[in-house]
Amino acid sequence: MEWRPLGEHATVLVGTQGGKYPHGSSLLVTGREETALIDPSLSVARLAAADLPRVDRVLNSHCHEDHVAGNHRFPALPWHLHGLDLPGIHSLEGMMAIHGLEGAMEAAFRRIVTEDFHFRARPDALAFTDGEVFDLGGARVRVIHAPGHTRGHSVFHVEPDDVLYLGDIDLSSFGPYYGDAWSSLEDFERTLAMVEDIEARWYATFHHVGVLDGQGAFRERLARFSGVIAARECRLLEFLAAPHTLDEIAAHRFVYRPGDPGRAAEHGPAPRAPGARRAGARGRGRALPGRSVSGRAYAPNSFLRQPEPKKSSARRKSFTLPAVIGHQLISDLMPKRSMTTLCCAQNLRMPPLPWR
Ligand SMILES: [Zn+2]
Ligand SMILES: [Zn+2]
Repeated sequence: MEWRPLGEHATVLVGTQGGKYPHGSSLLVTGREETALIDPSLSVARLAAADLPRVDRVLNSHCHEDHVAGNHRFPALPWHLHGLDLPGIHSLEGMMAIHGLEGAMEAAFRRIVTEDFHFRARPDALAFTDGEVFDLGGARVRVIHAPGHTRGHSVFHVEPDDVLYLGDIDLSSFGPYYGDAWSSLEDFERTLAMVEDIEARWYATFHHVGVLDGQGAFRERLARFSGVIAARECRLLEFLAAPHTLDEIAAHRFVYRPGDPGRAAEHGPAPRAPGARRAGARGRGRALPGRSVSGRAYAPNSFLRQPEPKKSSARRKSFTLPAVIGHQLISDLMPKRSMTTLCCAQNLRMPPLPWR
């Protein structure tokens, strides 16, 4: 494992394959009095005992299986997570609730989390809050709550080395992941706007991208990363120019590319959504809450910059799919969300045929 120092105190422990999932890159912060390890990865989990860093406490950016995979190598130390993600480390049930899977997928993922990612419940894990500072003696780790990916997802600013550790705001070409039960696209968008203004010398991600030097490079990657959300929505709206069932929408893959099995889906077959309904097919079951444009386009009302529907929870229910892929789409289609990209509004005003 490559140890890449970013300053006197902060060192990136570069994960296998550059930190590609299921691996990731952890951050070691060494002060005069204490050393903290942030997000012990699967690569850390696989280190020989002699190669493990000497650590006094473990900090996790959020409670996803890949970010806590190495926690069990430090069973006697305090583990710290944001209070909102704490249920995920307190018990396996909590961890599963964060993902929100069902049926065969849930059972398969439960095994993966425990066997492949070495999940260990720690009922005594500790909560941190936004703004909390871990003073390690000459080095400090400041918590910045950055929800969206999960409820408690946090980034860390390491001083004085001036490193911003971004967790799963991973700046990848895939774009933001907000497909879990505890994810929120709205929160993620607020978080993306918030982190843009955080100045640092180094920006480090858990997956893929690794370390960026300076705010200019960070902002450039962040803009591309954020732009993926709008691109997904545009593709979704284009597809919905004609009626499609939820199965068809899911199969079309607006979040995971065709042929890309996806993060959790790669571990097991995605169950088909039972009772799939054809959007816009009136009189045959419930239709997708949408609107007809020129009698042909079916798109969620939220995309039309309308105020939030009063019965949003009832509407949301009609999107529920017991599949991971379904979860992705539920996030994209949440009626509560206000559509903000000009691109999509423009598409809706265009006649369906030429741009289909
Ligand atoms: Zn994650
Ligand atoms: Zn991750």
